[in-house]
Amino acid sequence: MKAVVFEKFGEAPTIQTVPDPKPAPDGVVIKVEATGLCRSDWHGWMGHDDGITLPHVPGHELAGVVVAAGKQVSRWKAGDRVTVPFAVGCGRCFECTSGNHQVCEHQTQPGFTGWGSFAEYVGIEHADTNLVRLPEEMEYATAASLGCRFVTSFRAIVDQGRVKPGEWVAVHGCGGVGLSAIMIASSMGANVIAIDLTDEKLEFAKRIGAVATINASTTPNVVKAVKQITNGGAHMSMDALGHPTTSFNSISNLRRRGRHVQVGLMLGEHARPQVPMDKVIAFELEILGSHGMQAYRYSAMMEMIRTGKLKPELLVGKRISLEEAPAALMAMGGFEGIGIGVVTKFG
Ligand SMILES: [Zn+2]
Ligand SMILES: [Zn+2]
Repeated sequence: MKAVVFEKFGEAPTIQTVPDPKPAPDGVVIKVEATGLCRSDWHGWMGHDDGITLPHVPGHELAGVVVAAGKQVSRWKAGDRVTVPFAVGCGRCFECTSGNHQVCEHQTQPGFTGWGSFAEYVGIEHADTNLVRLPEEMEYATAASLGCRFVTSFRAIVDQGRVKPGEWVAVHGCGGVGLSAIMIASSMGANVIAIDLTDEKLEFAKRIGAVATINASTTPNVVKAVKQITNGGAHMSMDALGHPTTSFNSISNLRRRGRHVQVGLMLGEHARPQVPMDKVIAFELEILGSHGMQAYRYSAMMEMIRTGKLKPELLVGKRISLEEAPAALMAMGGFEGIGIGVVTKFG
């Protein structure tokens, strides 16, 4: 099969012909029909992720068709249209058996712990626990865009952030994660403030549900601006970018008893940011993480998509070919364009 391969961290990946994957006894092989481009792939390529062994094939936001299933797989067969969360749970550890596959102790991640989906085929283990069936009407590019940023935002807003109708939600950063969060929070009846450095992204944020926007490049004090708009602070706030400044602002702009959810990755020199711990205590703030979403929780999200409350297809940005993926991957370290870029041509 053809795949995007890198042999050294930080050196340009190339398209190579490599052996096709074979299904594990409890796994499947999926013919990749669409795979999203994500900043975590860039972090992996840069060598910020300990789990990667070289040579490596990146890619973790995938959708496609099952072409082969191992002997132990009972729920899936060739021809099934599927997607998978980026954190693949073992199904047997304490976290998995208590329903928290997204933080499985033995989790695998396509494109990190093993070869990923910037390829014609990808192998996924523990298929019965982790695969998600695609609704007939959902196209592959949309399905691929769900697997990482959209589901993480869904869990961040709904399960971790516990957003209620009428609450104020601040979303720092309007990339793929931020825009997903804005759409989801606003569909839950919250009042959402979008914060970004570019007017173009803020305009888009308004179109998908934000009731107010703050351009952080022209606003001297973002925390003060959020407090003014919300009359005292947000109930829930998210750092969707992953930067010491946005993380600090997101915690600082909360009202008493507010919830901060960190979704944007903090790696390398950003891994230990400043936290206003004085305020966390005095205001009884909650600081939470959100790391993907369990396959079984997809059904709630899929129903909201089916009824038109959530429209993830609006967040699909550029569509490119596998040949164009190496250049696009290397460019992910800069600021993204609007929406989620997806590889949809593999031939
Ligand atoms: Zn991702
Ligand atoms: Zn597990």
